[in-house]
Amino acid sequence: MSTPWKQARPSRPESCNILRVKKRVETPQQRWARENRDKLAAACRRWRKRHPEKQKAATYGWRKRNLKKWNAYQRSWRRKNRDRTNPLLRAFRVENREVLNEKRRKYRALNLRMMRAIARKYYRDNFERKRVEHDTALARRKLAEGRYTVAEWRQLLRKWQYQCAYCQRRLTRKTATADHLIALSIGGTNWIKNIVPACLPCNQRKNSLSKSEYLKRLRKSRKFQ
Ligand SMILES: [Zn+2]
Repeated sequence: MSTPWKQARPSRPESCNILRVKKRVETPQQRWARENRDKLAAACRRWRKRHPEKQKAATYGWRKRNLKKWNAYQRSWRRKNRDRTNPLLRAFRVENREVLNEKRRKYRALNLRMMRAIARKYYRDNFERKRVEHDTALARRKLAEGRYTVAEWRQLLRKWQYQCAYCQRRLTRKTATADHLIALSIGGTNWIKNIVPACLPCNQRKNSLSKSEYLKRLRKSRKFQ
């Protein structure tokens, strides 16, 4: 069966330019440049040396015209050369400490409500991380060594199936607290192997007792209840 509507379709007009794009021809200069890369590079170097101010102007001009590219390049360079930039930044901060502090104080005063809202939201979203940081700081203050991560803490909770290590009360990620088996005050560490999940009452009552001492006390108080 024939399809007359297809046959009726007009063919491509003769004037269509897409079909007649000229193949680019290499000029003699381009060919020489391609074949004599190192000669050209040497010539460029000589030219730059002879015209330092023109070279500078050209460089700055390029940067101005390609600000986005230039900024991206600088960012990536800084990221790759942290060891070189960090001492410079630190020196800058030390040298300008007062000015920077003043700037920060002013900014805080102007944006107090916003900053508090941000801090609250951050705490809500990262409460476990904040608590781990708090524990780390506390341990350091008590001159105990060790730190643990949020991932380790969550793994520990799963291992204990979200139960208090002492009274087996059910815990949630919100209600669980980190208890140091050997208290920090009597030489325990803040490493994860010295930590068990505990409910807040157990954590507070245990204080610096050992595990067996506290369990004994817990059984006794249960008998009298
Ligand atoms: Zn408990």
